[in-house]
Amino acid sequence: MSLSSPSALSASSHPLTPYGWDDGWEAEFAPYAEQGLLPGRVVRVDRGQCDVVTPLGTVRADTEFVVPRDPMKVVCTGDWVAVDPAGSDPRYVRTLLPRRTAFVRSTSSKRSEGQVLATNIDHAVICVSLAVELDLGRIERFLALAMSSSTGDAPPHESALRESGAQPLVVLTKADLVPDAAGLSYLVQDVETAAPGVPVLPVSSLTGDGLDVLAAVVAGGTSVLLGQSGAGKSSLANALLGEDVMGVQHTRDVDGKGRHTTTTRNLLVLPGGGVLIDTPGLRGVGLWDAESGVGQVFAEVEELAERCRFHDCAHDSEPGCAVLAALDAGDLPERRLESYRKLMRENQRIVAKTDARLRAEIRRDWKRKGAEGRAAMAVKRGRWG
Ligand code: GDP
Ligand code: ZN
Repeated sequence: MSLSSPSALSASSHPLTPYGWDDGWEAEFAPYAEQGLLPGRVVRVDRGQCDVVTPLGTVRADTEFVVPRDPMKVVCTGDWVAVDPAGSDPRYVRTLLPRRTAFVRSTSSKRSEGQVLATNIDHAVICVSLAVELDLGRIERFLALAMSSSTGDAPPHESALRESGAQPLVVLTKADLVPDAAGLSYLVQDVETAAPGVPVLPVSSLTGDGLDVLAAVVAGGTSVLLGQSGAGKSSLANALLGEDVMGVQHTRDVDGKGRHTTTTRNLLVLPGGGVLIDTPGLRGVGLWDAESGVGQVFAEVEELAERCRFHDCAHDSEPGCAVLAALDAGDLPERRLESYRKLMRENQRIVAKTDARLRAEIRRDWKRKGAEGRAAMAVKRGRWG
């Protein structure tokens, strides 16, 4: 295989195909191929550098050329990028290809700016343990954040309004702990009521039950495992990765200087096809901006709300409220409405915080431009005055 012109390869025979390279990425990358740059997918990021898997193997590259001031444009695991060809020292990531989807954390404890945790995700696998009592509200919360995964190209509350790319899937883990098949199908049905239109799949990493179905679903793209600590994510990841896990995770790679290094990757190729992203940030999911996600998870509530007399109806005690009418008629479970209200309130707090941050940023930007303008004037006066 000729490695000197990777762009000449069709997507199906491309060395990056196992990493998710397709005709779409090929087309996005075309202008950079013309500049002699290498395509690659980011498998790990740390301190201003990243590991990028390319047709020439994994290379290390600096990320400082990609707008580091914008937290939403910071190179992230899962990104497709263009890097300098062999012989460049140091190598740089020259561009970030437009993201199809991104998981963005809106808030951290100190700052309210968005933080991109993983990008170009096709499947959001929400892991729910059957070892403990089902908490449908929590499942709805995870669904909302999965469905609000955005492109990360705009502030989170804006991008969340766009259509999401990642497909959610609820996996009920530790199915071996449910003794009878009837009980299991009852639990699946229960979860299905909280996740209309979302596949619900019972699996056991212990016995392997249901793993083949899950493997087939995730074979078609890039997946992340979401869910509470203890939900069985690591066990599931190991089960999906099979015995290859160490071999895949700790490959010997060549760094930017041609040295062999041992690295830990956060993006792994599954033996049955597909890619799994597992970053520390994704594991400790805190508060997320999930407004559009909430709307999608509670589509029936939003549909009812459109028929309320007042368009800003709070579905509290307003006259002509279609949501309360459905509640009275028994068409809408009380629990669903409570869950919906709770998530909307939580989300409004996050959006308000984000707005405050944006206003502060615009003010800063304006001040900086003012200062630059004055400096330019001073230079002009010095030269011409
Ligand atoms: P994580 O925190 O979401 O990564 O969860 P882990 O994968 O570490 O699993 C948490 C606990 O659940 C561990 O004690 C596992 O042994 C157990 N566990 C995970 N998967 C299964 C399963 O399929 N069946 C049973 N019985 N236990 C499991
Ligand atoms: Zn109403």
